[in-house]
Amino acid sequence: MRTSPSASPSPIDEHTPLPADDPYLIAFGDDEQGHAVPRSEAIRVYATVAAADVEPRDRNWTVAGRCGAPGKLVTKWGPFVHGNPYLRTNRCAACGWLVAIDLLTIQQELDALAPSADVRPVFARLLADPAPAATICEAIVTAATADDDAFDLDHPVTVQLLAHVTAHEPRLLVPEACAEDECHHMPADAPDGWRCPLPDARVACAACSTLAGSWAGEWQGTFLDQCTVTAPCGVLLTVAQHYGVDITGSEVTHS
Ligand SMILES: [Zn+2]
Ligand SMILES: [Zn+2]
Ligand SMILES: [Zn+2]
Repeated sequence: MRTSPSASPSPIDEHTPLPADDPYLIAFGDDEQGHAVPRSEAIRVYATVAAADVEPRDRNWTVAGRCGAPGKLVTKWGPFVHGNPYLRTNRCAACGWLVAIDLLTIQQELDALAPSADVRPVFARLLADPAPAATICEAIVTAATADDDAFDLDHPVTVQLLAHVTAHEPRLLVPEACAEDECHHMPADAPDGWRCPLPDARVACAACSTLAGSWAGEWQGTFLDQCTVTAPCGVLLTVAQHYGVDITGSEVTHS
């Protein structure tokens, strides 16, 4: 519930304070992606809204994301950082790389492309390179910083490529029964603490596959059987080949 003391009326909703110190905040894009907004730009928009003295629904939070995409500043979503739950499924990859280049946190961006420790063995079983998008992005970064003939790191084409590869990073598809701990992959004599290692899991590319739309209700965003593209997809294979990195294990001798 909103309270508005008459002694000091403020047009700023008390539920949307500007977070302190964070270099980048979040805009909800017209494309439904979470974009990064430089703090100075967020302050400008915030001040403009404060000065406008209009009803909450008429406030104009329009702002451009770091990648240029239009959106609305959402201060209560906090900073544009890894781990922010508001960015879990819709983080703009271009903004992510632009911020990483600005803040010199490229290694953090690469690390975020690697599977988490709990599912890494599953990725390692299903893919020759368990983090192919990280491998390719690292090659792009290396070429941009080390090769005089390549475009620089902050050149738009470098960011475009990094964002494109990031969008095609493999996703783990876990059978519902396994996700709910209701599968039959746990033998009756399994010791305490043993967990299903997801023997039926698959890896697929969300960008290449067709994901259920809003018609699917709570299943929106799930991969459709009609078009689930196995990872690594053609995009990753193509860029990997260009940069001369092996993500298929074809040059690796398995003993
Ligand atoms: Zn963006
Ligand atoms: Zn299972
Ligand atoms: Zn793909």
